[in-house]
Amino acid sequence: MIEIKDLHKSYKMGKNSLHVLKGINFNVEEGELVAIMGSSGSGKSTLLNILGMLDELDEGSYTLDGVAIKNLNETKAAQYRNKFLGFIFQSFNLINYKSAAENVALPLYYQKVARKERQEKALKYLTQVGLKEWAGHLPSELSGGQKQRVAIARAMAAEPKVLLADEPTGALDSKTSYEVMDLIQKINDQGNTILIVTHEPDIADMCKRIVHLKDGVIIEDKKIEQVRASKYV
Ligand code: ADP
Ligand code: MG
Repeated sequence: MIEIKDLHKSYKMGKNSLHVLKGINFNVEEGELVAIMGSSGSGKSTLLNILGMLDELDEGSYTLDGVAIKNLNETKAAQYRNKFLGFIFQSFNLINYKSAAENVALPLYYQKVARKERQEKALKYLTQVGLKEWAGHLPSELSGGQKQRVAIARAMAAEPKVLLADEPTGALDSKTSYEVMDLIQKINDQGNTILIVTHEPDIADMCKRIVHLKDGVIIEDKKIEQVRASKYV
């Protein structure tokens, strides 16, 4: 699904340049649930943004579902982004004056999906995240965990190939975090490919594979079984 070879990324700031990603090699198969771990500033969001086609790579290659993502024009990039990718953020990024259902339906509106189908899909995915009864409510009437569920439903509504989540539990207490991760696991069980950036080991432990980023490179990449086994030796 995802193939990254020798990926480099620097941020230019005037005369200076900050080399953040220094040769990342990374493949993700369909149906994986991957945690990208690393301390603050290690480049996790930078990597996720490149994977999400929100930012461009400097060097290396990126293939997403067989499509080479480099030098695509804006229109094509936006097309692929909408078709392939769903995003979940730490701060939910819901629109405050729109109901839960309207928030979930919004990406479909931009994809010119007809109104009736938008409403059906919104309700379908709100039901999947356990929020059917809350469809008409505003974000301000929802708890943090419920808001993130709405955001997850929104990310799923366009039925993307890959879900990308940047610190999805970062704004939630630990009980709610586990509930949101339970939901993410459930979605993954249905076959969705999911990548989660987190700095919380407990959250990473709920994924199937943990990739550890440090100083711009991957220093560890293990299936959860290997991680668990190595804890007890
Ligand atoms: P993480 O998500 O692991 O905390 P980031 O990918 O956000 O790390 O950032 C990696 C490094 O790149 C940090 O030193 C950060 O300050 C810097 N950085 C991130 N975004 C930008 C930007 N748009 N311009 C300049 N520097 C940035
Ligand atoms: Mg970050």
